[in-house]
Amino acid sequence: MTETAEVMVVAPHPDDAEFGAGGTIAGWTREGKQVVLVVCTKGDKGTSDRGVVPERLARIREQEQREAARVLGVREVVFLGYPDQGLEDTPAFRKELVRLLRLYRPWTVVTSDPYRRYVSHRDHRITGQVVLDAVYPCARDHLAYPDLLEEGLEPHRVREMLFWQSEDINYRTDITETFDRKVTALRCHASQMEQIARAVANPDLEGWLRDLCRALAQGEDFELAEAFHRVEILR
Ligand SMILES: [Zn+2]
Repeated sequence: MTETAEVMVVAPHPDDAEFGAGGTIAGWTREGKQVVLVVCTKGDKGTSDRGVVPERLARIREQEQREAARVLGVREVVFLGYPDQGLEDTPAFRKELVRLLRLYRPWTVVTSDPYRRYVSHRDHRITGQVVLDAVYPCARDHLAYPDLLEEGLEPHRVREMLFWQSEDINYRTDITETFDRKVTALRCHASQMEQIARAVANPDLEGWLRDLCRALAQGEDFELAEAFHRVEILR
């Protein structure tokens, strides 16, 4: 049987976890916490390179994701293998997440905020929503998915959720000590670097990221932060 993990991170695409929570994840694993990363899609469409076919891109992205996870000290990476831009809020997707929640039994679940307004990647929105529904109430209720119960996957209550890329920030983590590992992990996603630099309109990714994390730490007694909307699951 798989060992349990204190934290489960659910990313829509390869690189989202590093952007959203890389420094926080590195901090947790440094404290000895077990972190499992679930990557929902293969990231096989996010390129402007017309010379690469999706299958090859998916293989590259998986390799890069494994390397980035290793840099952050993540114990295990689970690839769900959905096509990029192909996520839907389906019973099958929700059940896959419930299965993983009941298997790894995390205290904390970290994912994308589904309530970002207007321009928000569809996969990000859907991942956040389906993870939320899987955590509460589906993973918790024994009458949901009696077949999982028969497999020995007992109900599980997650205690807190952190959502990255939130417009409603209420929680900041100190990543001053782990910022370098966040950058190193992001650089593992070599096939996405050029596009990322273009998206943020800055070729100096590290400088851009440092400014961003410094701005997020404003008002705190540390220098660099990642920021989330945090929800406690009380029942
Ligand atoms: Zn993404």
